[in-house]
Amino acid sequence: MDIDAAPLRSDRRAVTERSFLVPAPESADRVGFRGPLAVRVFLRNEGSRIRADIEAHARCEAPCDRCLQPVAFAVELRYTEEFVTPEQAARDGIEGGETDDGDVRTVVYQNDRIELDSGLRQNLELALPGKHLCREDCLGLCPRCGKNLNAGPCGCADQDEPSGPRLLALADAMRRAKKRESE
Ligand SMILES: [Zn+2]
Ligand SMILES: [Zn+2]
Repeated sequence: MDIDAAPLRSDRRAVTERSFLVPAPESADRVGFRGPLAVRVFLRNEGSRIRADIEAHARCEAPCDRCLQPVAFAVELRYTEEFVTPEQAARDGIEGGETDDGDVRTVVYQNDRIELDSGLRQNLELALPGKHLCREDCLGLCPRCGKNLNAGPCGCADQDEPSGPRLLALADAMRRAKKRESE
């Protein structure tokens, strides 16, 4: 998605706002996207550079870390980028196409085209949560039968072999009692 910088660059006081939908990436990590990203950008001529304040909204989906059910969530982005011409970049000593000055990335643009895609992708990746839970107390899947325990117990716990010192002692006592009965 490109924006024509010519009208912005030629008018020292130019301010413009644009909204558009950008196709979402295929998927990132385990996160899928429900529909395109809604992007709004405010552009302003700041003399030696064009400042872009970007807001974006993404509707996402990822499997719950415990029960694997899909979890829907939204991601909001808000960041700023500054765009300079190659001539300005040479004057400012910006090399390699971009610099990162704290929160603001400075990007060199060519042929009056302002390109927002790579910044959008980077910021989106950084904003995606690393943890997904359908709910804080999700019970997950039974490790034995694979049933989703949020829907109710699966019965595996009842058939469990006795384990743990107390249960083992109990099982032992019962075995001894049986033995005594049969003697
Ligand atoms: Zn879950
Ligand atoms: Zn089970």
